Amino acid sequence: RTDEVSLAKEASKKYGSAAPTIFSKVLDKSIPAEIIYEDEKCLAFRDISPQAPVHFLVIPRIPIPRISEAKDDDSALLGHLLVVAKNVAKQESLSEGYRVVINDGVHGSQSVYHLHIHVLGGRQMKWPPG
Ligand code: ADP
Repeated sequence: RTDEVSLAKEASKKYGSAAPTIFSKVLDKSIPAEIIYEDEKCLAFRDISPQAPVHFLVIPRIPIPRISEAKDDDSALLGHLLVVAKNVAKQESLSEGYRVVINDGVHGSQSVYHLHIHVLGGRQMKWPPG
């Protein structure tokens, strides 16, 4: 069983005292979320405000605030998040394809400062994004 407190302590050593976000509450299950996959490193759950017929987020248990603050030695974790994104996309039957997005900071329109990968599918996506 993953110990959220020791994970948070480890993360704060690496990232400073990352402010808790709404996703900390999703992780500790103090607020409800529709979780569609979880393992010892990450969680996937449906976005509360879906922008496509299928829209889910993949987040690490360690609260990395944003992709630009990830460390070079986080490569195994970052790779794992992408592997989970594509496996859950398959589980969600997105056989026609999908969009994978990470928003970073102000210009990226990031609103929750706990790293998350968006996976959107079930309709035709357009390019470029707004
Ligand atoms: P944006 O809000 O511009 O999409 P982000 O990339 O930071 O910026 O995305 C945060 C995402 O988290 C949003 O899509 C939002 O709908 C989603 N979200 C916020 N709170 C919750 C929640 N409690 N459960 C599920 N999804 C959430």
